[in-house]
Amino acid sequence: MIQFNVPPYAGKEMEYMKKAIDSGKICGDGGFTKQCNKWIEEKTSAKKALLTTSCTHALEMAALLLDIKEGDEVIMPSYTFVSTANAFVLRGARIIFIDIRPDTMNMDEKLIEQAITEKTKAIVPVHYAGVACEMDTILEIAARHGLYVVEDAAQGVMSEYKGRSLGAIGDIGCYSFHETKNYSMGEGGAVLISNEKFSERADIIREKGTNRSRFIRGQVDKYTWVDKGSSFLPSDLNAAYLMAQLEAADKINDARLSMWNLYYSELEALRDAGLLELPTIPAECKHNAHMFYIKLKDEAERQRLIEHLKANGVASVFHYIPLHSSEAGMLYGEFRGEDRYTTKESERLLRLPMYYGLKAEEVSYIAGKIKEYFM
Ligand SMILES: *Cc1c(COP(=O)(O)O)cnc(C)c1O
Repeated sequence: MIQFNVPPYAGKEMEYMKKAIDSGKICGDGGFTKQCNKWIEEKTSAKKALLTTSCTHALEMAALLLDIKEGDEVIMPSYTFVSTANAFVLRGARIIFIDIRPDTMNMDEKLIEQAITEKTKAIVPVHYAGVACEMDTILEIAARHGLYVVEDAAQGVMSEYKGRSLGAIGDIGCYSFHETKNYSMGEGGAVLISNEKFSERADIIREKGTNRSRFIRGQVDKYTWVDKGSSFLPSDLNAAYLMAQLEAADKINDARLSMWNLYYSELEALRDAGLLELPTIPAECKHNAHMFYIKLKDEAERQRLIEHLKANGVASVFHYIPLHSSEAGMLYGEFRGEDRYTTKESERLLRLPMYYGLKAEEVSYIAGKIKEYFM
């Protein structure tokens, strides 16, 4: 069976975890956590990066930093993971879902402005499949209306938009290092702060609402409860695991991209024959091959292809059920504007196996089975 996902393993994870244990300090903010934070800051040019226990928690930190309150509105695509919405719902916000663009499956930047009201607090672009949203337009709209931009860059580590790293373009960005993502620590993530005004408070919120970070830096002589907060910092054991992968980031990224490109070239003939659609990468985007998806004619054909692939030992999976049509989505949010693409495109999309270690022969085999289906 060719799995849909195999968690990445770079090679030095065990060695680094042993180092963390030998250091006698495996709680949060140990040596490996600091190394990971620094790596992200240098790679992305974010003013500050802090590892978190998940991307879900990074998004929750963002909602706390923005002081989201009961009655605030937050604009995001409906085609996303539940955490994008939940983080703001937990603070009492109402979620305003807008439609996506069919080419990238990202929020349609042309629909943002008409969804803004006096209650709107933030725009949350989700970079689906590690392909950037149209950030210049989004930033321009946000600036004109005095709104914050929180990037859900869970899938966007190592991706760029016009030469800038995803996650470091808006006020706050959120990464995931879950084992289904390109780089993993099992469960984990990072919050990236690009708007300086959130920098100090990010340390406090992540450290249970205390000024412990200032205490460690010697800026205060005892630490105390100063704000709202929670425990959003991971164990240094997890950070050690992640560091082994970040060091190998270019190698992992290159390997994923070459498999992505192979899928693309193998399936181009089917696309040219009008049998399926392939992903679009806009010219200003450099992606990270987080995902390879195809789009079929409709949901029924997708189901038939899933079964055909399964019968041939290949796991393929669809993705998000649009949040606005879910039980909680109806309770905590609403779709503003017309659902032209969200539901329709989500029903046609099928994700193919993609992970570090996937072999060229396997990609060719999978592509061959898809061709066979259409013959
Ligand atoms: C994976 C993912 C998340 C959640 O990440 P965790 O680290 O598992 O909390 C949030 N948003 C998107 C778009 C994701 O793909």
